Amino acid sequence: MADHMASRQPVIELRGAGLTYPGPPPVVALSPCDLRVWPGEFVSVVGPSGAGKSSLLNIIGLLDATTEGNYLLDGRDTAALGEPQRTALRGRNIGFVFQAFHLLPHRTAWENVELGLLHGGTPRNERRAAAREALVRVGLEHRLRAMPTTLSGGERQRVAIARAVAGRPSLLLCDEPTGNLDSATAASVLSLLDELHRGGMTVVVITHDSTVAEHGKRVLTIRDGVLTERVAA
Ligand code: ADP
Ligand code: MG
Repeated sequence: MADHMASRQPVIELRGAGLTYPGPPPVVALSPCDLRVWPGEFVSVVGPSGAGKSSLLNIIGLLDATTEGNYLLDGRDTAALGEPQRTALRGRNIGFVFQAFHLLPHRTAWENVELGLLHGGTPRNERRAAAREALVRVGLEHRLRAMPTTLSGGERQRVAIARAVAGRPSLLLCDEPTGNLDSATAASVLSLLDELHRGGMTVVVITHDSTVAEHGKRVLTIRDGVLTERVAA
């Protein structure tokens, strides 16, 4: 780790963090692992089906609690938090992008992004402005009032990315973000993630696709629940 990073606080810090489903029989979905992801990093986690990717994503995204060890998000230990606090922290600090976009079909692009800001208690006019700005950032200024059904797959994923970043989270967490896209569209979505990363966003992409993983500046591998850092040859 570079010296200049040593004094800063990681966005993600796993300390012996693991997840075992109780069963019976118990299933170790994530073996206890250590991980630090620093502000502004672009990290990919790649592994085959059943490797533990969703389990890791659920922990990092505060959707599941660890059964062993600790998870600190922006320096805050999440172990002792109750569900309302986890939900609030998730809403403030993490933007999610999923394979299936998850846009509301009867709302415009602009409304979809704005609705993503509801949890924060921001006044409506500020939400509108932040949503518009996020859509401009992803190159959809001309599609503000478009309904999702009139958008291409790539455009829908851009709306989902705008929704994820509009609240200025400290972490953008992407689960197979290009899984529903053809390869040309996937490339343009990945270059958007690169652009957000260049703008300072911390990005974690979870994928089974090694081509997608190569976009990470740092690539981790997960296999049989074991997370490994791929060290450059
Ligand atoms: P991936 O996302 O890489 O496909 P998962 O994290 O979903 O992998 O799963 C990791 C392992 O944990 C798999 O062996 C899976 O069968 C198991 N698993 C996932 N969810 C549960 C659950 N709710 N109960 C028991 N085992 C589970
Ligand atoms: Mg999965």
